[in-house]
Amino acid sequence: MADLELDGVRKAFDDTVALDDVTLDIDEGEFFTLVGPSGCGKTTTLRTIAGLESPTAGTVRFGGEDVAGVPTEDRDVGIVFQNYALFPHMSVRENVAYGLQFADPPDGQSTDGRVSELLDLVDLSGMGDREPDQLSGGQQQRVALARALAPAPDVLLLDEPMSALDARLRETLRRQVKRIQTDLGVTTVYVTHDQAEALAISDRLAVMSDGGVEQVGTPREVYERPATEFVASFVGENNLFRGEVVGREAEATAVSVDGTEFRVDAAEVSGRDATAGDRLTFCVRPEDLTVDADANRFEVAVDTAEFLGETTRYYADWGDRTVVFRTPDAHDGDALALGFDPGDARVL
Ligand code: ATP
Repeated sequence: MADLELDGVRKAFDDTVALDDVTLDIDEGEFFTLVGPSGCGKTTTLRTIAGLESPTAGTVRFGGEDVAGVPTEDRDVGIVFQNYALFPHMSVRENVAYGLQFADPPDGQSTDGRVSELLDLVDLSGMGDREPDQLSGGQQQRVALARALAPAPDVLLLDEPMSALDARLRETLRRQVKRIQTDLGVTTVYVTHDQAEALAISDRLAVMSDGGVEQVGTPREVYERPATEFVASFVGENNLFRGEVVGREAEATAVSVDGTEFRVDAAEVSGRDATAGDRLTFCVRPEDLTVDADANRFEVAVDTAEFLGETTRYYADWGDRTVVFRTPDAHDGDALALGFDPGDARVL
């Protein structure tokens, strides 16, 4: 199994810079996700790892070895794309066996034996003789996964493998993929634009924007400690407060946002050169804005309530801004005083 490094990788297509100085270090056996909006460079990163694109500058290493010039078929990678790419007139078994065209089955297994083992792994044992159009989308994607895993690759690359499936099926397949990955311990790089999926499935993730990496961390780190405004807004929901430092004391820093003064924990600002007059942005998660907070209160008017089942999301006007929060039981047009604990503000 390989650990995987991208070191200062740049990729330009004529005038378009798809990747700009991307550096990533992916551990052996890790489930690592690239997440970001459309066009941020996720697929190009994956294709560069696969050897389907060569970097304009920078280095890709597998297990410490520079793989420049090593063709895809010699990189020991299994790839699953969004659109299954199964052969329509081959049976499921033949499709999976096709994954062994460039490599022998591992451990001296027969092709037949290996195919059976993989169909078992993806819970499709009884379906080997079917053709792809006799399978559901989720089953087809499991065939594609079995094919990619057939030669026991060092690295598994998954490019939006679930985006063509409906939401319920996506959640089921997500759990199956995660279980298979954990059982095999195969180093996996997963591409998605869906931040909730990225949080749910990954050991660590890289949030990408505009050809660059904004932050790398565990799902919890990225959610609880967003490093940039982009990450704060892209991963989960967030309220951004852009203001100016008005005072710095031992316990808290006071920040004025259009005349309303807020206090954020001193620890959040420690190590920063933030003195009176400096601009400072912080964010507060919707679940941390409450009506019973003792501190940092401000008046809002509820604009929209969206019932989401286990919770309700409220949008409210605060001057010409919109804030989003979860509690309490409010109604359109209600005037409320929301607030938040100074420890729940994250300075960006
Ligand atoms: P999506 O989620 O829409 O698939 P992405 O994050 O995977 O997007 P990429 O497909 O990697 O993004 O594209 C990054 C940028 O590089 C985009 O601006 C895209 O238009 C450009 N790009 C990608 N492939 C090529 C190519 N072969 N020729 C020219 N430009 C390309």
